[in-house]
Amino acid sequence: MGFFNWVFLVVVVLHSVDSTIVYSSSLFSNELSKIPSELLDFAKDPVLVDWMVGIRRKIHENPELGYEEFKTSELIRAELDKMGVRYNYPVAVTGVVGFIGTGEPPFVALRADMDALPMQEMVEWDHKSKIPGKMHACGHDAHVTMLIGAAKILQEHREELKGTVVLVFQPAEEGGGGAAKMISAGALENVSAIFGLHVDHSTRIGEVASRSGPILAGSGFFEAVISGKGGHAAIPQHTIDPILAASNVIVSLQHLVSREADPLDSQVVTVAKFQGGGAFNVIPDSVTIGGTFRAFSKESFVQLRKRIEEVITRQASVQRCNATVNFFTEEKPFFPATINDKNLHEYFRNVAGDMLGIDKVHIMNPVMGSEDFAFYQEVVPGYFFFLGMQNETRKQLKSVHSPYFEINEDMLPYGAALHASLAVRYLLDFQPKDHLPEGKYHDEL
Ligand SMILES: [Zn+2]
Ligand SMILES: [Zn+2]
Repeated sequence: MGFFNWVFLVVVVLHSVDSTIVYSSSLFSNELSKIPSELLDFAKDPVLVDWMVGIRRKIHENPELGYEEFKTSELIRAELDKMGVRYNYPVAVTGVVGFIGTGEPPFVALRADMDALPMQEMVEWDHKSKIPGKMHACGHDAHVTMLIGAAKILQEHREELKGTVVLVFQPAEEGGGGAAKMISAGALENVSAIFGLHVDHSTRIGEVASRSGPILAGSGFFEAVISGKGGHAAIPQHTIDPILAASNVIVSLQHLVSREADPLDSQVVTVAKFQGGGAFNVIPDSVTIGGTFRAFSKESFVQLRKRIEEVITRQASVQRCNATVNFFTEEKPFFPATINDKNLHEYFRNVAGDMLGIDKVHIMNPVMGSEDFAFYQEVVPGYFFFLGMQNETRKQLKSVHSPYFEINEDMLPYGAALHASLAVRYLLDFQPKDHLPEGKYHDEL
């Protein structure tokens, strides 16, 4: 592959406002724009595809929950060992951080999440989950595979990389805040940007979707125990009924979004759990309710949290009940909103457009789901996008977290090539000023 031969031709347009970073416009070079499609051709090699499919199926058969991804992590390290890729392990219990390239700046990170979900797979196929009650129903098996695929592509071209690619295999995306632990363990050290992707059943294969700015909401969970005094259901005057109090709490919680929030500032409060009582004629001592809340801005999120606690405790007291509220910040840390960097959005559109055609790079509306990729974006500029896998000639795929969730494995080369292209082009496009070869750029400003 000789597509790096042209590197010396690079003419960089300096945006001196961003002082330490220079961004090279892709206008200047036809050669640069060829990299993504060349890497896609490389990734579509049947030998590489079969290898990726094999890895994905192996991980799918052996799903592991957050912070228990020991076998998955072992498989990743075995593949990196075979390629001769250097890595750190363990990082945040089961995480792996690999390095490909010069070992010098710039450093650009690519992230994959490794964990499965505590649910029973209902799809009958040869590579069904072998672990009862556990399933890769969010496509993280494919995410890991595509990052291993990208590692293979990058390692084949390591001599030509103009910096260092950091491969971030993280544990516990599904509520465990694995990203935050990876950051504490130093996974983003020296990194100046990070990219992540998620498979998407509703976008066509060979297409991608994302947006600049907020794309996924910040998210938190709560549980409240509302306590009264149980007794005979036919003699309510001798009881303090927590069922009625909890019912009023739930109705009052619905007013937070409908009456207190700005209608133009999207927010959600959902009570998804209600447990209390066990007999037709007994008023129970207590009721447990729980749910989730979502918002895009930190201010709105903090306000919701404060009001959820106030509404639960005060509304419960109206009916003479006591209430305690738990936000589980230790086990399930609040996820910040996923906010895509504006410059990286333009950059992504250039790279993905060069690979797939700009008409295949869609701008999507934000959704109220959440992603712990957001933790990385609080530390460095980051970009998260959705990778299509729907093939209209096949059956409609189910959405993530369904027990009938399936992925279209034909998407694997696209993800691997996008990861690799984003990294390769980033290292060329975003060189620190003092790393530019003298006389090879001019300042247009
Ligand atoms: Zn998920
Ligand atoms: Zn996921």
